[in-house]
Amino acid sequence: MRGLSEGKQAVLRTAKKAYREKLMAGTSGNMSMLIPAGMEGDAMLPQAGGCHGSLMIITPSSYDYEIMEEKDIVVTDLEGNVIEGCHRPSSEWRMHAEIYQHLPHVQAVVHTHSPYATSFAVNHQEIPVVLIEMIPFLKGKLEVSAYAEQGSAQVGRNAVEILRRKNACLMANHGIVAVGESLESAYLNSVYVEDAARIYHRALVCGKPVVIPGYEE
Ligand SMILES: [Zn+2]
Repeated sequence: MRGLSEGKQAVLRTAKKAYREKLMAGTSGNMSMLIPAGMEGDAMLPQAGGCHGSLMIITPSSYDYEIMEEKDIVVTDLEGNVIEGCHRPSSEWRMHAEIYQHLPHVQAVVHTHSPYATSFAVNHQEIPVVLIEMIPFLKGKLEVSAYAEQGSAQVGRNAVEILRRKNACLMANHGIVAVGESLESAYLNSVYVEDAARIYHRALVCGKPVVIPGYEE
């Protein structure tokens, strides 16, 4: 298990990569990884509150990805109390906390406003299983979670309804959220969401996409 410093570096590296890959524009998007209770590694920390004392390492609120450094990454408990860091956590921290509290297999959450996938989210339009990668990585078609006010715990609860059986979902009029057993896998899943959306969009422009047999749910 990685310690806090290594975890912060991983969050920083992945956030910058997502920004470079244009999955996140401006200061939008955010990501986190879970540090289960007692696994803080190299850190000397005060007793954390929240759900069983678990912590999350999360990107800061409204902060330029290009100048972001390891010290800007925030550590909070699952009630949003800052344990370490000089910034406020992402305004979507409640969504991250809800996902960790309800889905014990999830160790990392990546939230982006990647443009093709978000276009379908704006339309409240599912993306059927048209690419083979969607089966092992995303666990099937991309469904749309119900709209809720930005920053509310309800955003997370709506996503959890789908993430119980999927590794990603579209979020109505907002963006996407992808989860994984590691930050690397959650990020990869977010890349496959945008890839599926981009290719499905282009396929719709030039013809009538065919769903993979057996997945026409
Ligand atoms: Zn967002």
